[in-house]
Amino acid sequence: MNILYEGKAKRLYATEHDDELRMSFKDDATAFNGVKHAQLAGKGHLNKEITLLLYRELADAGIETHFLRELNDTDLLVRKVTIIPLEVVVRKVVAGSLAKRTGLAQGQTLDEPLVEYYLKDDALGDPMLAPAHIRALNLAQPDEVTAVTQQALVIFTHLETFFAQAGLRLVDLKLEFGRADGKILLADEISPDTCRLWDTETGEIFDKDRFRQDLGEVIEHYQQILERISPHAKRV
Ligand code: ADP
Ligand code: UDP
Repeated sequence: MNILYEGKAKRLYATEHDDELRMSFKDDATAFNGVKHAQLAGKGHLNKEITLLLYRELADAGIETHFLRELNDTDLLVRKVTIIPLEVVVRKVVAGSLAKRTGLAQGQTLDEPLVEYYLKDDALGDPMLAPAHIRALNLAQPDEVTAVTQQALVIFTHLETFFAQAGLRLVDLKLEFGRADGKILLADEISPDTCRLWDTETGEIFDKDRFRQDLGEVIEHYQQILERISPHAKRV
């Protein structure tokens, strides 16, 4: 099976091509740095479908990513990259740790998107970093930080518009980037595990906060996200 890595939500497998990986989505749900854990039947399939649809939207918008093609119900073929160990979070609406850290009111819309960087290190609890820390820790070159920031903003804005057509408000989004062939590419997943989505009209929560906050019907809401966005996909 050539498993290269097993994470909290996905497994990575080697393929017959050195520069390609099979990214397999698991049914495991985790929160609070892995402290809360459950199996949610069907989550792997749904997150793979949502990631696939969103990666195709980005491709159609001319945004190059690690995505190559769909393999099966739970797996995508992706280009192997060297992950930059940063979680790049883009926010447009105050929620989660931003509300806790700043006292800004949950649900308040920011004047412009905010980009934050966190160190991808579970043992340290993914601490927030300033660009100066990224340089001091030699995690990425300044021009790479600029490239990642620009791409993150373009991706967020594009997806925000896409979700709006489906009556969903993209509150925030976590992205990971990697290096391949001298380029910086978007990698990992884009799913309700890694972004916040609220109903535009009612504010109903559709994302992993349903699991974090024990709101129930997690899978039903992930399924509804897929059903709502599918009619707006340029490719089926
Ligand atoms: P975690 O590592 O946080 O538990 P996952 O279970 O989602 O997260 O594991 C997926 C891992 O695969 C992440 O560490 C992510 O950085 C990495 N990854 C995603 N896409 C690629 C890629 N194209 N090439 C190499 N690694 C990747
Ligand atoms: N996020 C993520 N992985 C993490 C931390 C955050 O995908 O390890 C996502 C989270 O789902 C949300 C956004 O990043 O969409 C911002 O998360 P926040 O900093 O508010 O973290 P929280 O305190 O909610 O974990």
